[in-house]
Amino acid sequence: MSYFRPHIDSLAGYTPGEQPQAGKFIKLNTNENPYPPSPNVKQAILAVLDRGLEKYPDPMANSFRIRAAQVLGVEPEWILCGNGSDEILTILTRAFVGEGDRLRLPYPSYILYRTLAEIQGATSEEVRFNADWSLPAAFGQGDGKLKLVFLPNPNSPSGTFIAPDKILEFARSLPCPLLVDEAYADFASDNCVRLVKECDKIMVSRTLSKSYSLAGLRFGFLVAQPHIIEGLVKIKDSYNCDALSIAAATAAIDDQSHLVANTAKILATRSRLETKARELGFAPIPSQANFVWCPHPSQPVKPLYERLKANRILVRYMNYAGWGEGLRISVGTDEQVDACLALLA
Ligand SMILES: *Cc1c(COP(=O)(O)O)cnc(C)c1O
Repeated sequence: MSYFRPHIDSLAGYTPGEQPQAGKFIKLNTNENPYPPSPNVKQAILAVLDRGLEKYPDPMANSFRIRAAQVLGVEPEWILCGNGSDEILTILTRAFVGEGDRLRLPYPSYILYRTLAEIQGATSEEVRFNADWSLPAAFGQGDGKLKLVFLPNPNSPSGTFIAPDKILEFARSLPCPLLVDEAYADFASDNCVRLVKECDKIMVSRTLSKSYSLAGLRFGFLVAQPHIIEGLVKIKDSYNCDALSIAAATAAIDDQSHLVANTAKILATRSRLETKARELGFAPIPSQANFVWCPHPSQPVKPLYERLKANRILVRYMNYAGWGEGLRISVGTDEQVDACLALLA
C-alpha cells in the first residue's frame, strides 16, 4: 500500500544533470559558469554573517528588487524573487495549473516543466519545434483547458532563440499566461523583458545560476505585471529567500561590469567550441546560450559521452524520442573546452 496520491506514485520525477561528489571532473554538463562571481558577493555574505542570522529575512527581498529593477528598466513591484528560478516555475505552476488542466511546453526543451505539471495532476502537452528550431503557429493556439505555457528562450538543449516579436504574437493569441524562461538571456542578443509591459500574459524568469556564476546560491526571479506578482505572493513561502542569498544576489546584480566581462569571455569560447566541433564532424547548432548542442550526422554519440566520462570530462548526453541524440557541451574555460575537444578528436 502506498501513502502517496496515485498521480505521485506514477510520477517518474525529474533527474538533474550529474553532480559528481568525488574526484576531479571537468564539468561541462549542467551549464554552470566556469568563472567566479563578483568579489562583492563574498563581502556581502560576510557582512550578513557579522550582523547575525537571528532574524528572519525580508520576505520580498526588496534590496534585490530595487537593484534588479534598475538594471532591467522596470519598477520593483514588477519583480518576484525565488529560491532559484526553478522555484519561480513551481510557484507559477501551482498558481495557474490545477488537476485536469493542461500545461504546454515546446519539445525538445527543459524536461522539468513536464514534472511540474504532473505534480499538479495536470497534463503536459509538448509542441514540437520545427526542424529549424522555429515554432509552429499551433504553439500560440489553445482552448480553455490550457492554463500555462513555458518557453525557454534561448532554448535548452539547442541554444536557439525565438524572436521577441514572434513571442508577443503567440502570447496575444493564447488563452493563458506565457512564461519566457530566460535562464540564458545574458548570453543572447536580445530578450523579452520589454514585452512584459506590452502584454500582461507575458512573464519572464531569470536566474543568477548561469551568467552570475551562483548556481550554488539558489536565486532567481520573475518579471511580471504587478497584479500578477501580487497573486503569486499569496502562494510563495513567506521566507522563500534567505538573508545570505538576498545579500549575495543583490551584490551580484549590482556588479554589471563583472557580468559583462565574464560573458564576453564565454561568448568567445563558445564560438571556438562551435567552430572546432564542426571541424570534428559534428553539426553544432549556432548557440545564443552558454552551451552548444552537438548532434552528429553519421555517428552515435553515446560512446563519445562515455569515453569522455571515463576520462573525467562530463558533458550532457541527450536522446530525444522522435528527434535524435546529441551532446550538450557547456562553455567552460578555453582550457576545459580544449581538453574536451582534444579527447573528442
Ligand atoms: C538552469 C535552468 C534553470 C534553473 O535555474 P535555477 O535558477 O538554478 O533554478 C531554469 N530554466 C532553464 C531552461 C535552465 O536551463
